[in-house]
Amino acid sequence: MTGQVLRCERVVTAEGVREDAVITIEDGMITGLDPAAGTAGEPVGGWVLPGYVDTHVHGGGGGDYPTTDPDEAFRAREFHARNGTTTSYASLVSAEPEKLIKQIETLVPLVEDGAFAGIHLEGPFLSAAKCGAHDPDLLIPPEPRLLDRLLDAGRGRIAMITLAPELEHGLAAVERLTRAGVRVAFGHSDADEAGTRAGIEAGATVATHLFNAMRPIHHREPGPIPRLLTSESIMVELICDGIHLHPEVIRMAIAAAGPDRVALVTDAMIAAGLADGPYRLGDLNVMVDQGAVRLVNPDGSAGSIAGSTLTMAEAVRFVVGLGVPIPDAARMAAATPARRHGLTRVGEIAVGRAADLCVVDDHGRLQRVLRAGSWLETEQA
Ligand SMILES: [Zn+2]
Repeated sequence: MTGQVLRCERVVTAEGVREDAVITIEDGMITGLDPAAGTAGEPVGGWVLPGYVDTHVHGGGGGDYPTTDPDEAFRAREFHARNGTTTSYASLVSAEPEKLIKQIETLVPLVEDGAFAGIHLEGPFLSAAKCGAHDPDLLIPPEPRLLDRLLDAGRGRIAMITLAPELEHGLAAVERLTRAGVRVAFGHSDADEAGTRAGIEAGATVATHLFNAMRPIHHREPGPIPRLLTSESIMVELICDGIHLHPEVIRMAIAAAGPDRVALVTDAMIAAGLADGPYRLGDLNVMVDQGAVRLVNPDGSAGSIAGSTLTMAEAVRFVVGLGVPIPDAARMAAATPARRHGLTRVGEIAVGRAADLCVVDDHGRLQRVLRAGSWLETEQA
């Protein structure tokens, strides 16, 4: 027999947990998943999970995805791979159209080479009232001619656009993008309940970092959250770093939507994996203090949360620490985002899928990462 044989203590599959199973790998793909039955092979202890899929991430390890330097984007991509992200979108932030187009053109070849699974535009079609770390001066409505230019620059590689559907041209943009095969994420929006419902009816299928940069829930003014949490067509992103969301809110969201509709995302920026201190986010100054990223206000005080320094490895560990069973954490970190985004080669441990694996201990801590059949040097131990 050619290829690799991994003899695994415990494998998490879509059907359940298999004990003492053998994964056979050839040319970077899984070609067998069988009971061990005395088979030899490289022993792999702990829990073997599908490699993590991060569909909302802006960079890390000292590199930005919003860049015109492909080496910088690639470096950041490798940082996240070592931390468990075997499949990734590259998320851009609001920028002037010309600059955004150059960044998209930089990333397209990296998607074609397989470094990224797609491009995510977070902005510039966002609400100034919920701009978070996006420069409000750069926010504009999704006017059809500009959409055309961005889609043309993306050459079919723009997978998702986060937008605020209540903006002028917003609902038409949702419909148009959905028809073009681009997933629309509701986010950085000031929509009320009715406006949210209209966005979902027009075709939005993702909630960008649920709870963050949208109206909060109130029992007489529900805002967007109840509808997003309970709509079967919506996958909700959660940033589980212990900073963006209180653990009780994470627990409530997972209980309401279930692991088949929750995606763990990092929303990480350049400082993920680096020391605390001052950094740039797009054209804005931010300060990282104990891993929390905040805008620096003109008077020097701390402003709004501005992305995270999270990795997928840490997100999984965090939710397992809240009591989420490891198989459910694996669904939220891999199977659900892959399925909801139509990434059919990844997200599950099954014959015919990519040999992308994350090995974790009983606490969900990342031990090893296999990408396309090759072990990577991981950063966690
Ligand atoms: Zn983001």
